[in-house]
Amino acid sequence: MSEFVNSLLTEVKAKNPAEPEFHQAVQEVAESLEIVLERYPEYRKSKILERIIEPERVITFRVPWVDEQGEIHINKGFRIEMNSAIGPYKGGLRFHPSVNLGILKFLAFEQVFKNSLTTLPMGGGKGGSDFDPKGKSDLKIMRFCQAFMTELFRHIGPNTDVPAGDIGVGGREIGYLFGMYKKLRNEFTGVLTGKGLNWGGSLIRPEATGYGCVYFAAEMLKTKGETLEGKKCLVSGSGNVAQYTVEKLLQMGAKPVTLSDSNGYIYDEEGIDRKKLDFILELKNVRRGRISEYVEKYPNAVYTEVNPSLNYNPLWNHKADCAFPSATQNEINGNDAQNLVKNGVFLVSEGANMPTNIDGVNIFLDNKILYGPGKAANAGGVAVSGLEMAQNSMRFNWSREEVDSRLQMIMKDIHRNCFETAQSFGTPGNYVNGANIAGFLKVANAMMDQGVI
Ligand code: NDP
Repeated sequence: MSEFVNSLLTEVKAKNPAEPEFHQAVQEVAESLEIVLERYPEYRKSKILERIIEPERVITFRVPWVDEQGEIHINKGFRIEMNSAIGPYKGGLRFHPSVNLGILKFLAFEQVFKNSLTTLPMGGGKGGSDFDPKGKSDLKIMRFCQAFMTELFRHIGPNTDVPAGDIGVGGREIGYLFGMYKKLRNEFTGVLTGKGLNWGGSLIRPEATGYGCVYFAAEMLKTKGETLEGKKCLVSGSGNVAQYTVEKLLQMGAKPVTLSDSNGYIYDEEGIDRKKLDFILELKNVRRGRISEYVEKYPNAVYTEVNPSLNYNPLWNHKADCAFPSATQNEINGNDAQNLVKNGVFLVSEGANMPTNIDGVNIFLDNKILYGPGKAANAGGVAVSGLEMAQNSMRFNWSREEVDSRLQMIMKDIHRNCFETAQSFGTPGNYVNGANIAGFLKVANAMMDQGVI
């Protein structure tokens, strides 16, 4: 680690103790930006990076709610308004028991660079709660969402801060949150994205992150004269991102063979085809069941339960060509990255945010595989959220084809920008540097223009 990164990180750790995911995200970006700060000392003089690291505003609040049995529950609520240099704060809400300040700060920090890459005018934010929606009745979910919004509504607005979904927050939760916002404010605005189609949502928004991640992979392959046709693909997760990653992989002629949830993963050597994917959609989105049920329906597949005593994840230890981590942060460690490379995987396109830890990233870079980091590869979700905002402002809806072609264009632009930026800073093929530097430059220049605020 260089002197610059080391001293920056020492300060970040002292000011933000016990936030390891945030430290990790800052380290990765700082390592890429060193070369930029050397080339353009004005950014260092204006302390642009130091300012980006400090959220513009952090809101934490109590979320008390009463369930159908009359029992009172208290959760923590958060919204991190990280950076508004290029547009209103924008980023998802995560409802998961692991949610804490450090995790949301890492996500908000990543979001600043990601949103900048989309070419759309969106700043960065993230929020959520330690509430666990898993296995809860619709009534409990509604009561919690309403309670959450009775505080959040003061801080957000269509030109201020526009949240969306993330882990544990899908169409159902966005609906309850939107309903409460509308009631409290007495106005119908595009204050959230991921809305239902008949009340302000955009076509392709549910599909956008997964589709975009596969489009990004296709662009990376194109640089080597390759396509996804016939490629065997490992996919983790089985939620929103994983589902639509598999759908687009199938459309592009690839063969997805794995999916997972927090209890375990399935491996289907014959491939997860359209019919099997429909079963997954029903299992996960309607019945809200576990991935293990897949092998009851398709007994040729193998289910492996999570084994916390292992120092690697067996999902990443199958022979394959491409990998699409789409569950959560740090799901690929150094051992997993070694296994992937050893098993012939030459492309990793990250649907999840920061799914690979720093050891894993270095192994991918050292082995010169095509590695698309989350802030570039999964930017399709927020990009279509940006398109949903644009449609809301126009009070007009684009067709499915229109939104999908804009999404494809944006993913191509992000790829080209990352590819060319990596090259122009002397690290050709390094999409990590490309994404961090290109994302940074737009925000940094806006901050320089707007003065010290
Ligand atoms: P969902 O809640 O729809 O699905 C999450 C999936 O990942 C579930 O299968 C879940 O399993 C699994 N998972 C979650 N946490 C863990 C864990 N700690 N260990 C193992 N498995 C886990 O979320 P999304 O699909 O929306 O999000 C997945 C990833 O993609 C996240 O990193 C998110 O930040 C990122 N992302 C999402 C975007 C979006 O538009 N939704 C946009 C950009 C990035 P289980 O059900 O058992 O918890």
